[in-house]
Amino acid sequence: MNHIPTIGIVGGIGSGKSTVASLFASQGCAVANADENAKKAFEILEVQNQIQDWWGEQIYNSKGDLDTKKIASIVFSDDSERKRLESLIHPIVARFQQEIFDACGDGVIAYVIDAPLLFEAGLELQCDAIVFVEASQETRLRRVLSARGWGENELVTREASQLPLDKKRKKADYVIINEGDLSAVEHRVKEVLEEIRNSDST
Ligand code: ADP
Repeated sequence: MNHIPTIGIVGGIGSGKSTVASLFASQGCAVANADENAKKAFEILEVQNQIQDWWGEQIYNSKGDLDTKKIASIVFSDDSERKRLESLIHPIVARFQQEIFDACGDGVIAYVIDAPLLFEAGLELQCDAIVFVEASQETRLRRVLSARGWGENELVTREASQLPLDKKRKKADYVIINEGDLSAVEHRVKEVLEEIRNSDST
């Protein structure tokens, strides 16, 4: 049986990691999205109980739902709280990811991990290749502003809690530039995928 390579996708917020991941998916790769899996982790009752234990009722809004903005404000203003939350959530995200890949069986050509905190969570150890998605801060800011309604402050604060982008870029095996033309990105995704598959089989 052929080995199925695992590809990790990293890059700044709004660089286009999820966009690139979906291009890998359309080439026949299975994709696990860490942000989506983290959202699912927050739905687990034990997780909610644990964070309520730490931070009290303030984590719920007036409707009784988890207040993700409040949680973000707690963890992005205090490193130790962020690390505490990450140590709770990351193992669950890794478990969900494994379940997604296991469910795909052998019918995929690669597994793709779309995880903003790939290195921080130690997920790079599972990867045969790391792809860095590159876009300028100006482009990334424009994208998150229109897609998520974030301001510069939010982007900078969140990125400050992550491994610096130049370090992530250095650790990567491939760079995909995502500044504008999506067809150019698609072409590059195919090229990178082929190279990874070729080097994986040698
Ligand atoms: P990330 O996963 O790195 O945070 P996304 O893939 O979610 O980034 O992209 C952020 C936003 O920018 C999304 O709304 C996405 O549709 C848009 N986007 C990404 N790449 C491009 C591109 N090449 N051209 C136009 N819009 C893009």
